[in-house]
Amino acid sequence: MAGESSRTIEPVILLGAPGAGKGTQAKRIEQRYHIPQISTGDILRQNIKAGTPLGHAAKAVMERGQLVPDELVCPMVADRIREIDCERGFILDGFPRTAAQAGWLDAFLENEFFDNSHGCNRLPIVISMDVDYNELLRRLTGRRSCPTCGRIYNVHLQPPKVDELCDNDGSKLVIRDDDREEVIRERLNEFVRQTRPVADYYQAKGRLKTVNGDLPMDQVTAQIFCIIDNHV
Ligand code: AMP
Repeated sequence: MAGESSRTIEPVILLGAPGAGKGTQAKRIEQRYHIPQISTGDILRQNIKAGTPLGHAAKAVMERGQLVPDELVCPMVADRIREIDCERGFILDGFPRTAAQAGWLDAFLENEFFDNSHGCNRLPIVISMDVDYNELLRRLTGRRSCPTCGRIYNVHLQPPKVDELCDNDGSKLVIRDDDREEVIRERLNEFVRQTRPVADYYQAKGRLKTVNGDLPMDQVTAQIFCIIDNHV
């Protein structure tokens, strides 16, 4: 759409359980509106790989499928949003994940983002992707990713052209450490316990938009674009 690479867009917050398709949809939003995806899971995994103090602190918690403490995640998000490429907007994928993070984000946006320099003073666009529990399990157990380019596949739903190899660069696809069945269950428990209240937080403020994440991917994307295009 004309102008999508220049207009300022309110921050887009994607909510949903692990496996709901947030990462896939975030990449599509990124391509259409030219605003960056901020995946807290990806940033934490990069820190683990690079052996930073944050990575050391997060590793064991993530391997158990539990949430990294807010005191570590919030400053990490603040640093990322302050980067220049977020000036026209950004997509949060995997944050906020607790009601405390949601409250922190509201205060941060109010103080640092929605000021005159961004030419907009409106609320973030909050989209919850709802997916059936058994479907989540199926998606998470089938998930594979490319260690080189980050592309995500699913052996049931979106297999690569050649078994276990990335279509883009031929790398051998990998299973994330926390996509093992016992860890998946813990991550889904954490979602119900800690992240559902985030949707309630935005619902109570009348700001929650919901899409049916069980629908085919392109239909979910169409619904999301429609919400963003019509956000006032
Ligand atoms: P994801 O890639 O979004 O599924 O996140 C993988 C893991 O990273 C989660 O299971 C958590 O351990 C950690 N994580 C990601 N985002 C957050 C967050 N906003 N708050 C706390 N922990 C997080």
